[in-house]
Amino acid sequence: MTQLESALKNKTSREIAAVAEIERVSRNFLKKNIASGRIVIPKNNKRTIKKICGIGYGLRTKINANIGTSSDEADISDELEKLRVSVEYGADTVMDLSIGQDISGIRRAVLKESRVPVGTVPIYQAAQEATRRKGNFLKMTADCLLGVIQEQAEDGVDFMTIHAGVTRKTVSLVKKGKRILDIVSRGGAILTSWMAHHKKENPLYECFDKILEIAYNYDITLSLGDGLRPGSILDATDAAQLSELRLLGKLARRAHEKKVQVIIEGPGHVPLEQIRKNVELEKRLCNDAPFYVLGPLVTDVASTRDHISAAIGGALAASYGADYLCVVSPAEHLRHPSVEDIKEGVIAARIAGHSGDIAKRINGATDWDKQMSIARKKRDWNEQISLSIDPQKAKEYRAASKPHLLDVCTMCSEYCSIKLIEECAKV
Ligand code: SF4
Repeated sequence: MTQLESALKNKTSREIAAVAEIERVSRNFLKKNIASGRIVIPKNNKRTIKKICGIGYGLRTKINANIGTSSDEADISDELEKLRVSVEYGADTVMDLSIGQDISGIRRAVLKESRVPVGTVPIYQAAQEATRRKGNFLKMTADCLLGVIQEQAEDGVDFMTIHAGVTRKTVSLVKKGKRILDIVSRGGAILTSWMAHHKKENPLYECFDKILEIAYNYDITLSLGDGLRPGSILDATDAAQLSELRLLGKLARRAHEKKVQVIIEGPGHVPLEQIRKNVELEKRLCNDAPFYVLGPLVTDVASTRDHISAAIGGALAASYGADYLCVVSPAEHLRHPSVEDIKEGVIAARIAGHSGDIAKRINGATDWDKQMSIARKKRDWNEQISLSIDPQKAKEYRAASKPHLLDVCTMCSEYCSIKLIEECAKV
């Protein structure tokens, strides 16, 4: 029985009970919202997950970190270190986006090591296998794609990106719209090339019912991919993007009818003033399914600081109701990220998600801030360090400075406003 089926039958599964406790919401609230499709619990029924999570309405905004090899960088130990660092710094889920070397072996290692739900994008493996076996990813077949989805399901993958909204019709709108950056999603570009070459419809769209069958059997949450997301703020919220979103809404309804949990992926590069509209449209067109935003990056010029651009957009999106943020690393657009890049990206995304939760008034969201404010008032450096989003760096900063008065910091020294007012109050 899938989590969605349990909720529809008003049954409290072990996972529903666990998430209700973690989120400090009632079991009935959770069941009601899972039943309506507003919340998902991504967990393959073959997996045991130590750090389970729910994603969606009324819950803390979740963070996903992308790890995985590329054709140029394929060191599995690096990717496992990224997994460890991502979870240590607060990622709620990870996605293995490997496209280099032994994709199945890497995925199995990630699944074995991961304490959090693991997602994948099966089209990457299907394309890589076609290249390896037949010399060209265009030789990929629908059967091979379904075989990969089945294999990954059997391995225990908890959620999968399925770019079923990239169709001949939606792609034609990209061409008509004269975008600057056409298609920037890797899955979207692979499928568009395949469709153009074979003059056929997207196999993920055509075989959607078969994908739903597999997803149902393993209770895999489908993350309906935004293969046509804008890659430039000047391409945002155009006809192609919205046409794909409308189609994703219809596919989400089909999934829901088959008792398969669904989240919707969203943009991309979006100017600040369009973020609210993007969140509201997703909620309206997709029946309030959880919204997973890939940023959004609010400017195109932040290379080496794209994690900041994404955190600005992510915080705003979360405050308007986005439920799940994708980590964007400082290396975005430039190179395969290092372990340090991933750490910086996770921290930036967590700040964004937490800021959104404060605005959304999520249960207990300000508790952490209150504790930090009290520690600051007491000028309790150890407490401030342990409450910091990056305790290691906070400790290094404090240790590297040499205040001549130990109960203040080197920023204001004897003019420490907190201390001055504390002493003032004693007079
Ligand atoms: S010295 Fe200035 S920055 Fe440092 S704790 Fe006091 S008020 Fe804050």
